[in-house]
Amino acid sequence: MASTLISVAEARERVLAAVSPLPVEEVPLDRALGRVLAEDVAASGDLPSFDSSAMDGFAVVAGGEAELRVVGESRAGTPFAGALRPGTAVRISTGAVIPRGADAVVPVERARERDGRVAVPAVAPGENVRRAGEDVRAGELLVRAGAPLGPPELAVLAAAGRATVRCGARPRVAVLVTGDELVAPGEPLGPGQIRDSNAVALAALAQAAGANVVRRERVRDRPADTRRALERGLDAADVVCVSGGVSVGPHDHVRPALAELGARELFWGVRLKPGKPVWFGAAGRTLVFGLPGNPVSAMVTFHLLARPALRALAGADPADRRTTARLDSSVRRNPARDQAIRCRLELRDDGWHVRPTKAQESHILSSMLDAQALALVPAGEGELAAGERVEIQLVG
Ligand code: AMP
Ligand code: MG
Repeated sequence: MASTLISVAEARERVLAAVSPLPVEEVPLDRALGRVLAEDVAASGDLPSFDSSAMDGFAVVAGGEAELRVVGESRAGTPFAGALRPGTAVRISTGAVIPRGADAVVPVERARERDGRVAVPAVAPGENVRRAGEDVRAGELLVRAGAPLGPPELAVLAAAGRATVRCGARPRVAVLVTGDELVAPGEPLGPGQIRDSNAVALAALAQAAGANVVRRERVRDRPADTRRALERGLDAADVVCVSGGVSVGPHDHVRPALAELGARELFWGVRLKPGKPVWFGAAGRTLVFGLPGNPVSAMVTFHLLARPALRALAGADPADRRTTARLDSSVRRNPARDQAIRCRLELRDDGWHVRPTKAQESHILSSMLDAQALALVPAGEGELAAGERVEIQLVG
């Protein structure tokens, strides 16, 4: 492996080159949160679609102070049927249609109503009136293909009358963890055993990336068990994330098992700390990430490599969480490997800064807590000084 280590950037390119977006599906809006829109959606009509009142009050003809006869009511959902003539007013609720003939609304707080008449102060045309099309014009592009659907996008699509939208499918992910030493959280630990944290971490990362986790399995370090579990994963999923067993130890069976199952290796080994032994390949249309067993390395390589693949499969921009920030303190470079440093993000006068959460050795799982970004410090000699700009990947 050592002689063929590639950079993180090269690894990401190879991952994305292997991705073809999944088929598009028609999805009801209430199931679309976290999906990626696969069509440009334009407004079919003006929003709001009619002139309406911005206040509870009285619809009037704009003019000077006056005492008017109240001739009816326009409620939200039930417009006033007639037209308004000078000398009259119509009681109106917020969001109700402005009656024909009226062009202003006097808020109820500024009006005095008595015996079927209302005294109103002077009011200018258009006061407290929301005009049709003020929010969005008919034909205007509302949400673009490729947009991730969050609450604001869903609200706008609903307001525009869409009950369903075309979205990229959610990638199906199988999470396998290998290791004879692993015990499920909640079960007693024997000598030398450790709690399996990768199964829950990788499944959570996959879900947070918009995927459906369709299998979770803990696998013994035996060749046949490893092969069978991988075969089940390949059958069930678009992406298999398997952790551990991907190095060259006597109990590392993932690569030979994948080879037996016909998976093509696209890389093995990235010039990255933590995360060097990561493996990537494809078996038919299924992508396989052989992530390191070390929990920090597994999460870091998921963020840098598997997440972009999942987002691209769903039809999103895989680089959506990449930007740059300034280092808050100097960082010693590693001569051979790029480092992914777990950092907090802070906004200062001169933009975003990153500060390491705590010790960065790969066994410090708690360094992931409070990490809002991974700062990518390129391999090299010496150190990167405080204030230097680095590429970051937002996480969490
Ligand atoms: P491996 O890549 O299988 O050599 O594992 C590297 C390190 O990660 C070892 O210390 C393992 O015990 C640990 N490890 C592997 N899998 C997990 C897991 N699912 N949860 C927590 N630690 C793990
Ligand atoms: Mg292992």
